[in-house]
Amino acid sequence: MFFSLMKKFFYNIFTVLALFKGLFITLSHMFKKKVTLQYPEEKWKTPSGYRGFPRLVPSDKEGRTYRCVSCKLCEAICPSDAIYIEPNTTESKSSFLLDMQRYPKVFDIHMGRCIVCGLCEEACPVEAITLAEEHITTKYSQHVRHKNDLLLPKEHSEQLLRKKRALAL
Ligand code: SF4
Ligand code: SF4
Repeated sequence: MFFSLMKKFFYNIFTVLALFKGLFITLSHMFKKKVTLQYPEEKWKTPSGYRGFPRLVPSDKEGRTYRCVSCKLCEAICPSDAIYIEPNTTESKSSFLLDMQRYPKVFDIHMGRCIVCGLCEEACPVEAITLAEEHITTKYSQHVRHKNDLLLPKEHSEQLLRKKRALAL
């Protein structure tokens, strides 16, 4: 009898305490600074190391050509079948060992399918694809991105890769 009364008493005390804790949290938010953003003009700043949608890394100084050698490893490993690549070859001017160099004739990523798992980035042997900070696709036309839309600006991609290498150490 005594134990059952004590059990009820403590149960009620904890319930009331939890109720007041909840009310306190609600009240405290009423006096905090509001964080409403005027989207799309204002965008939420993603934290450092944020992993958003995959993008392609440029290879030349001007950021116009692709580092990708079209090995199709990312396409093979992608669990949601979001990547489609058609390889092609071109004459290489930079290498004295190889006369031909592979590049992606077509490189598409279906952002509606992508689950941002990062396996493509892990599988790539030449750091040609990386998860960038972008996480929004607001238009249906943005769902399938072609290689021209996937290329990151040179400065941005180098900064991103440096950050990722530092995090991996
Ligand atoms: S992040 Fe994952 S799901 Fe998205 S393209 Fe890369 S491997 Fe596919
Ligand atoms: S992005 Fe990397 S893994 Fe994918 S095809 Fe190009 S080189 Fe291969």
